[in-house]
This record gives sequence, structure tokens and C-alpha cells, in this order.
Amino acid sequence: MTTAPIERDEPFDAARLQAEAAAAAPALLDAVRARLPGAGADALLITAPPNVRYLSGFTTPADGRVLVTDDAAYLFTDDRYTVQAAEESWLAEQVIARDWLPRVAELVPGQRLAIEAEHLTVAQRATLEQHLGREVVPTEGLLRPLRMRKRDFEIAWLREAARVTDQALAQVVESLLRPGVRELDLALELERAMRAAGADGTSFEIIVASGPRSAMPHGVASRRRIEAGDLVTIDMGARVGGYHADMTRAIGVGRVREPLADWYRSVLAAQEAAVAAVAPGVSGQALDALAREHLVEAGLAEHFSHSLGHGTGLAVHEGPTLSARSQDTLEPGMVVTVEPGVYVAGQGGLRIEDLVLVSDDGHEVLSRSPKAYRELA
Ligand code: ZN
Ligand code: ZN
Repeated sequence: MTTAPIERDEPFDAARLQAEAAAAAPALLDAVRARLPGAGADALLITAPPNVRYLSGFTTPADGRVLVTDDAAYLFTDDRYTVQAAEESWLAEQVIARDWLPRVAELVPGQRLAIEAEHLTVAQRATLEQHLGREVVPTEGLLRPLRMRKRDFEIAWLREAARVTDQALAQVVESLLRPGVRELDLALELERAMRAAGADGTSFEIIVASGPRSAMPHGVASRRRIEAGDLVTIDMGARVGGYHADMTRAIGVGRVREPLADWYRSVLAAQEAAVAAVAPGVSGQALDALAREHLVEAGLAEHFSHSLGHGTGLAVHEGPTLSARSQDTLEPGMVVTVEPGVYVAGQGGLRIEDLVLVSDDGHEVLSRSPKAYRELA
């Protein structure tokens, strides 16, 4: 099936946002440097792709690394990306080398070099230490507090990603969601619509879980054909400028059998209560508990098997976390999902998820797709 490309309904200036990111880079690097003494390090090697992109602007970060020293910052990549790196990266120092570990060591002789323990491989660490002639300093989550609080241009990317997601869902629900259509084909059309509307790609493999498959929280689209009476869970997100949207809706196709329609009302009440409570100073733990309390009365709390939500940004799952074990407290500029769901094997389930920006005095819901219970005729 073909559909006409989607017209943008608001001006969106990607070049301006890229310029703002470049202008903000020196302050960001200083904020990173300020964290080094506390970690017992003089320099930092960044290898986790979202962090490489965060610090450099390089859009193929899986093939890049960033070294931050007290007076410089370097992007390392190889000769497949010489032109791309020069065009994209706001780091003036670029090292083009396949064998990059010795080059890193040369630039920080005798220094205490921090590495990302969750990402650098054991073999890479050994090679690096051999060239450095000393042990590296393993760190975890050094950039997490910075990444959690989005700057204005990052919020603009996320807002656009949410808008593209909304637009694609509305279009595909209208044109394709009906009995007889395979989940896979629905997912394909959702991806096409997001890319046509300006997405770089999808935030993750689109989830379309219909009928009994809706009991799987992460039921990636299958060959199952949607049947009349299904409640179809669609979890999707557009990636725009490297920033990931994430949204879930559950939509009835024909007359949905009980108790699913009832469950929907309970999950929606829990979701709306949690969204309403999003504000600076509220803990991730409190929000998670609030949503769970709403499901107790309906006897559904035990079927809400995952945490309430997570931050999104250059990764689809990042800080802060909204869960029973979260240590995070919301601050202005954070962008989080709020996504309670219930899942019962053999019966089905559903989830409702919005992307929410924490503002100075409360919140703004970035996802605009309708949430009221609906059954398509
Ligand atoms: Zn999701
Ligand atoms: Zn999510």
C-alpha cells in the first residue's frame, strides 16, 4: 500500500538546533571536566555511542570515541568517516585511525584515564593499559546526571520526535488498523509514515501486540492477523536528530470483550494520575507507587509487571527511572515516559504511555495522540 508523503504542519529548523548544540558544546565539555576530580581522573575516554554523540555531534557514534582532557577534546573515528566527522562534529580535534587505542594513550601520558566500565570491552581495556603503562579508572554513569537534564535544543528535538510519532499513528490507524491486517504490515506502515514525516528511523522495533499477544509487554509485531474484538497495543517512537520518542496506545478493533475494556479504564486512570503528578521535586519512586495504588482497587496491581517509566533522549532508555527502586528526583528539563500496563497470560493486556517534559512548575505532555477508550468500527 502507498500513501502520500506527509506535509509538515509546523516549521522545524533542524539546522538551527544543530548550531545551538555546537554553541553549547564548550560549556558541556567544562561540565564533564568538572566531574573528573570526583572520579579520581585527569581525562575521560567515552565509548558508549549515545555519549559519543552527546559530546561530539557525530551521527555514527558506534564508530566513534571521544577523549576529554583538561584542555582539549578529540573525536576518534576511522577513514570511512573522515568527511562526515569534519562536517558533523563540533570537536575541532579529530583523529582518524583504525588502531585508535594507542593513539588515545599517546595523548594522555602519565594521566589517570577514566573509562566507561559499562561499555569498554575487557580486551580494549587491556590494550589501553598496556599502552598507557598504568591502570585506567573505571567509572559508571559519569554523564548520566548531565544527560538527564535536557537543554532547550534537546527538548525541541524530542518535541518534534513526539509530534512525528503522533502524526504517523493517526495516519496509520485511519488507513490500516482493521481486521485481517497483519501486525507486521501495521508496523511497516507506521515506520514508513514516521520516516516520511521526518524521522531518522524508529526509536526501537515497533511493538504491535493484538489478541492474546497483548499479554506480552514487548510483543514485537508478528505475522498474526488482527481480528475483530482485539485490543491492539502499539508501542512506537520516532527518532529525530538522534532523539528518541516513545509512546504506547491500545486501540479496540470492533467490540472488545471484557474484561479488557474495563482494564483499559483502570490503566488510563492510573496513567492520568501519574502524569498529573509529574513536577520538579517528585521522586521516581513516588510516581511509580502512585500509579500502582490506582491499580490495587481493580485487583490489577500484581499484573503491572514492569516499572512506570524512564527518561528518553539520545538513548530510548536513560535516566531518570520511575520505579520502586529509583533514586531519582524529577527536575525541570527531564523528559520521561509514564507507562503503566497490565498483562495477563491467556487473556491479554494493554499499556498506555506518554512522553512527558518536566517543566519549571509542573509538566507538559509531549504525546498528543488521543487516550480515551476507543473501538474502531
Ligand atoms: Zn514504549
Ligand atoms: Zn517506554
